[in-house]
Amino acid sequence: MSQSNTQKHSFNADVTKVLDIVVNSLYTDKEVFVRELVSNASDALEKLRHIQITESEIFDNNLSLEVNVSTDDTANTITIQDFGIGMTEDDLNENLGTIAHSGSKAFAEALKEGTEAASNLIGQFGVGFYSVFMVAKSVDVYTHSWGLESKGYHWSSDGSGEYSIEEVEGQRRGTKIVVHLKEEASEFSKEENIKSIIKRYSSYIQYPVNVNGEKLNTVQAIWVRSKSEVTDEEYKEFYKFQANAWDEPRFWLHFSSDAPININSLLYVPTENPEKFGFRHSEQDVALFCKKVLIDNHPQGLLPEWMRFVKGVVDSADLPLNISRESMQDSQLVQKIGTVLTKRFIKFLVEKAKKDEESYLTFWKEFGHYIKEGITSDFTHKESLTELLRFESSLTESGKTTTLKDYVSRMKEDQKEIYYLLGGSRESIEAGPYLEAFKSNNIEVLYLYEGVDEFVMSHVGQYEEKKLLSADQEGLELESTSSNSEDALPENEQEELCKWLKEVYGESVSEVKMSKRLVDNPALVVSKDKTMTANMRRIMKAMNQDVPQEIPVQLELNPSHSLIQKLSKLRTENEDIGKLVALQVLDNCRISAGLLEDPQSMVSRIYDIMDKTV
Ligand code: ADP
Ligand code: MG
Repeated sequence: MSQSNTQKHSFNADVTKVLDIVVNSLYTDKEVFVRELVSNASDALEKLRHIQITESEIFDNNLSLEVNVSTDDTANTITIQDFGIGMTEDDLNENLGTIAHSGSKAFAEALKEGTEAASNLIGQFGVGFYSVFMVAKSVDVYTHSWGLESKGYHWSSDGSGEYSIEEVEGQRRGTKIVVHLKEEASEFSKEENIKSIIKRYSSYIQYPVNVNGEKLNTVQAIWVRSKSEVTDEEYKEFYKFQANAWDEPRFWLHFSSDAPININSLLYVPTENPEKFGFRHSEQDVALFCKKVLIDNHPQGLLPEWMRFVKGVVDSADLPLNISRESMQDSQLVQKIGTVLTKRFIKFLVEKAKKDEESYLTFWKEFGHYIKEGITSDFTHKESLTELLRFESSLTESGKTTTLKDYVSRMKEDQKEIYYLLGGSRESIEAGPYLEAFKSNNIEVLYLYEGVDEFVMSHVGQYEEKKLLSADQEGLELESTSSNSEDALPENEQEELCKWLKEVYGESVSEVKMSKRLVDNPALVVSKDKTMTANMRRIMKAMNQDVPQEIPVQLELNPSHSLIQKLSKLRTENEDIGKLVALQVLDNCRISAGLLEDPQSMVSRIYDIMDKTV
């Protein structure tokens, strides 16, 4: 090992450009160099393991497959050593002297195009090995390739255009990288800092990673193992570790695929809904990995927003490790992974509901909101999400639910639409005036208890080519009910009453007519506004959105009801009280329809009526 042995080389032009930016940039995420070096070390070990399968003659073959990191805060260095595949002289020139690999190559190409401020570009690409020059004033690489005839080499550079290679004796197999830290990067020579960085990014690396002799990665990347090898206990433990969770997982999906994309993933549904008490949590909790090395714990844009209640990991060997947060959303590959995963997860829930309805229903109670949110916001998956909806209906027992599919299977041949009614509870829907006609016609009606449900229904639009319709709309074609019975008000009086009432109500009612859909209730209003029900109007108002002007309602009367018959008499015998009662009937109907906006005027009217009649 003599001085004359040393060969000087210039970096290839692309590398020089990349280095220039790396060294001079103000890039804040400097710690990623640790991730890059440790993952290179782990790659080198993995490559060696493959060679060990086919080759028997391997240099230093008794060395264990591990990564050793040591820090020295007096010398201000950090050293990363692996007993992996190592590099020959040619490898050194090719791998550390040119840009052959994906991340840095894309970076260099973007530089050529002169896009944006260069310091942003680092964040967008990551630069693999060269990222070490963000923190290093110089770097020594000692390496010995696995071949028995190979020699040991020392590569060295200060990152400023040149590097040197010399032959050295006494090297062990693999690669040792000594990073001489810049003054301002001395934090990376502190054991505690390095430990926490490695724990963050490299917890799941398959080979032991030791920092100053202490093994750090004790958790296994169970998502890359085959399902049959993992016990429930391991699944549960992993959930608590990865998701930092206190509860037990409700259920999980362990899913792997190779084509079209390599995916290993483990998705968990928690027991508790963290947003139940109103804390909104907008971060995604499915961490993105590339070959067990963390890319991002909360990748935005990977999964649709409604899936934020899902926890776990997804790993794809097809991803470049140094894809960064900023470029992730633009990456087609990331989007593809997200779509495959979302589809698979929905399928998993559908199957769960079939196999174990009870546990699906407890999930639905706790997390149904996210599914509904998905239907209104995720167009791609709306249709499949629709299968997950559950509602009570006029045919279910209280507390039991039905799917849209089952509803359709029960429809009679001539029923063309799916009906629903919104109300505060089962009792209030069943006491209201709208259900009567459906009941007497034996038509099932879905019960919606939450304001958003109607919104969801309008997004679903139709199911198996059957339109979804609110049962309080005008013009529903139902068979007539008992309203034509003998005890009904005579026809001529019906007409007179309608005419008179229209005058009393004025503009606020578009039409007054006798109804075919009432049995026990005296009257109801139907909305002429098919695009917006009273409830949606309320939701939009609450969200401070512009609400289209209210369209007048239509009032329908039950000619067999005694109150309507009495009203008809009052019209001629005591018009004053008749008017008051008429106005009150309208307001009562508005209450049932959820349309009454100002109850105060009603209160004074009731006093008036009481005063005149009591
Ligand atoms: P990438 O890992 O994306 O290929 P890097 O810049 O991190 O890009 O590394 C460049 C190349 O240098 C690697 O592909 C590998 O061939 C070689 N290399 C880096 N570190 C090691 C190591 N510890 N052992 C063996 N080869 C290495
Ligand atoms: Mg690398």
